[in-house]
Amino acid sequence: DAEPRVVLSARGLRKEFAGFVAVGGVDLDVHHGKIHALIGPNGAGKTTVFNLLTKFLPPTGGRIELLGQDITRTPPAKVARMGLVRSFQISAIFPHLSVLDNVRVALQRPNGLATQFWRPAGALDVLTPRAFELLETVGLAEAAHRLAGDLSYGRKRVLEIATTLALDPKVLLLDEPMAGMGHEDVAVVAGLIRSLAADRAILMVEHNLDVVAELCDWITVLQAGKILAAGDYVTVSTDERVRVAYMGT
Ligand code: ADP
Repeated sequence: DAEPRVVLSARGLRKEFAGFVAVGGVDLDVHHGKIHALIGPNGAGKTTVFNLLTKFLPPTGGRIELLGQDITRTPPAKVARMGLVRSFQISAIFPHLSVLDNVRVALQRPNGLATQFWRPAGALDVLTPRAFELLETVGLAEAAHRLAGDLSYGRKRVLEIATTLALDPKVLLLDEPMAGMGHEDVAVVAGLIRSLAADRAILMVEHNLDVVAELCDWITVLQAGKILAAGDYVTVSTDERVRVAYMGT
């Protein structure tokens, strides 16, 4: 394989809320084919970094590049179309629609921003083969005709990830994809994330350190809006400052 390719990068990323520095100059590189974890205690700035990268929030300072293009001032819908797509911690699926229809809706949405007011605009059948392809990718094809609301919690999260794939992301941002899951579901979602990383980049916020250790190639530890440490799991988990500040040992 060629050199790991940087597909998303931030330099000096900064966000102030009325003078309070939530993110105080963060540098971040996300590589094609790799899984990058963003960890840190509550209030560290992880959600704000996600909101800055996806352009849901305008940065106070710094620069963001996606696939070699400056997106520091690009609107969120355009950034999503360019291939930077996030999944939300709170599921964005429609429980009253079938699993298949959830994916078809996602394929029909122009910019990947969830809307509760979606109505079919005809020609959904055209999208069926692609929808099944995506369901196969995530292992939900055999549940295609079930109501999304009837899926287990873990499979709802998997479906939600499938809907983000409708936009063909080059960089996928996952906000606590395993939150609230039991061991079995965690293993399923971990396997899915690993397979998705084969041909895209993944940046994830994750609190479960066992998952991070097992899954992630690179870890950035945030504390009070700054990078405390960055590296592979061994490097980060043996870092004195990380142990004191984050792991409490
Ligand atoms: P994390 O996701 O790591 O828990 P956040 O990014 O949510 O951290 O928050 C970082 C800091 O910024 C916190 O102190 C939080 O209170 C503050 N913050 C986040 N969003 C806002 C906002 N819209 N207005 C004011 N302060 C905010």
